[in-house]
Amino acid sequence: MFETRDKFDVIVIGGGHAGCEAAAAAARMGADTLLLTHKLETIGVMSCNPAIGGLGKGHLVREIDALDGIMARAIDQAGIQFRMLNKSKGPAVRGPRAQADRKLYREAIQRFIAEQDNLIAKGEPVGDVILNEAGDKIEGVITEAGDRYYAPCVILTTGTFLRGMIHRGEERIPAGRVGEEPSVKLGETIERLGFPLGRLKTGTPPRLDGKTINWDALEAQEADNPPIPFSFLNERIDVPQIQCHITYTNEKTHQIIEDNLKKSSMYAGHIKGVGPRYCPSIEDKVVRFSDKPRHQIFLEPEGLDDDTVYPNGISNSLPVEVQEAFLKTIAGLENAKILVPGYAIEYDYVDPRALYKTLETKKVAGFYLAGQINGTTGYEEAAAQGLMAGLNAAIKASGRDQDFILDRSQAYIGVMIDDLTTRGASEPYRMFTSRAEYRLMLRADNADQRLTPFGLDIGCIGSQRAKAFEEKQALLFKAREQATAEALSPNELENYNIYVNQDGVRRNSMDLLRYPNITFDQLAGIWPFMREWRADIRDQIEIDALYAGYLERQQADIHAFKKDENLVLPADIDYRAVGSLSNEIVEKLERAKPETIGAASRIQGITPPALLSLLRFVKANKHDNAKKKAS
Ligand code: FAD
Repeated sequence: MFETRDKFDVIVIGGGHAGCEAAAAAARMGADTLLLTHKLETIGVMSCNPAIGGLGKGHLVREIDALDGIMARAIDQAGIQFRMLNKSKGPAVRGPRAQADRKLYREAIQRFIAEQDNLIAKGEPVGDVILNEAGDKIEGVITEAGDRYYAPCVILTTGTFLRGMIHRGEERIPAGRVGEEPSVKLGETIERLGFPLGRLKTGTPPRLDGKTINWDALEAQEADNPPIPFSFLNERIDVPQIQCHITYTNEKTHQIIEDNLKKSSMYAGHIKGVGPRYCPSIEDKVVRFSDKPRHQIFLEPEGLDDDTVYPNGISNSLPVEVQEAFLKTIAGLENAKILVPGYAIEYDYVDPRALYKTLETKKVAGFYLAGQINGTTGYEEAAAQGLMAGLNAAIKASGRDQDFILDRSQAYIGVMIDDLTTRGASEPYRMFTSRAEYRLMLRADNADQRLTPFGLDIGCIGSQRAKAFEEKQALLFKAREQATAEALSPNELENYNIYVNQDGVRRNSMDLLRYPNITFDQLAGIWPFMREWRADIRDQIEIDALYAGYLERQQADIHAFKKDENLVLPADIDYRAVGSLSNEIVEKLERAKPETIGAASRIQGITPPALLSLLRFVKANKHDNAKKKAS
């Protein structure tokens, strides 16, 4: 049916990873939602690497899934090589990753958007926003064609498009990504509104024709067998799995790059924006790690029926002829044909310290920002922010007086949003497990148990997931009861050829699973009910057993953290009245406007003594206010 309405609860600008997750989340909450993007056919496009997940990023995807988001379900329908990274390390730092068939992924996302109730998508780019007379509240948007749509909440998720500029050698092409127009008018709008803007850059490698690669010369990398799905709703993956291949740069490659550094947009000084430190271009790698004789390149097919290959590891902004020349020096790529040359892109971003933890801007009520526009890089980081902005916008539009915020002890999503809103992003921000203080708790395997209850509480979980979650919880409860119900002494265990310290302590199966030399099968020989546990329940029990001692300690840390962490700093606090803070610290606090003492503690340059003064000041004021109220 042709949609002619112009009033909605939530409007989302942008159909990338942040925008799709935001729109789907708002609609799941029952908000009447409009998604406006450049073209319907580019909804869910992967601008760069055809892969989802990885270390830290995989945790975000599981958390999005736990709140019934769409990214995990989409990659389960599109993943052509699933691999659990860090398999040899502990479960806390394992990272699920899957390479995607680019087309299947886009189609899956488009299906989720089309099938979502309460959600309409239109291919109409936005150029301006409508504010109230005071200019401090959003009322709607104006498309580039001049049409107006109204909503009390608007979420902006324009990725790399705000005044985007592609750089390749001396070439400069205004673009949001290759072949797509940038958002110039909207960029001017954001500047006019007075948001703190900066420039960042990212890059992409040349795409190669797989038919011209000499695969026989290369090392192959297999998918996991069986592949482990991302979504808690899926038990298996039906997409055929393929091999990837690995090759390396060498000294000849590096020589060509070094000889042509002056021609690289980056090194010729054409790019002012800061690039991602942890995902450097090949020029950067050659310069910064000049002692390394080679760098790894993963050759990742972009689809099951697509010959395009993504050479992961050689993003660059060199002229095409230099890209062609250095490729010829690489084993397997001697005759490789470039389908699309690599390039760098520079774009506007907004300093995320301008946002509350709900991702609503402090300046304009009802206006939310999510994704790469907040200084992050990566699909997963974008999607996780989109989800949170979508949920909060829907709550606000419904008139409920509630925020949905996850803290650092609850989710990687909480870590990321706290980092962004308190520290800002002076370089593109990506997620790592090392950013999370409580990573033994925040595992990819338990994201559903950590977060689905919150989702059920705020109302973003569909009936299918609610039912599956309830069933899993019941099975886990039963298995935990079984696992702790019966214990054997060291002597009794010896009857089963299991040897532990002769300390007289009776141990149950949970205790015994912690021993590296005792196997699950040995214990199932004593307690046959263990064989009845569903695979995911068994995994969970084994991981719980492994971490039991550490988790208790971490819980105590979290308790201490929460005590002061959530102490709210009044919005009108006068930092100069604290007394013992230096001007520099006062200015930092005034700029960042932290919402809690915990958020203040993570602002760079805030010293422990300054924090203590602040804590005392806030507690004393609270006490005075309470006394005033009482008298
Ligand atoms: P995007 O996926 O960029 O989506 C933006 C959406 O907004 C698009 O649908 C667009 O059509 C829409 N839009 C824009 N302007 C308007 C408007 N005015 N009105 C309506 N709709 C609008 N990430 C990594 O992790 N590693 C990398 O190496 C990496 N390299 C990259 C290289 C390149 C060249 C690019 C372009 C991106 C790269 N990324 C990389 C980043 C990754 O693509 C993004 O982090 C991710 O796509 C961000 O998601 P998003 O939803 O914020 O924005």
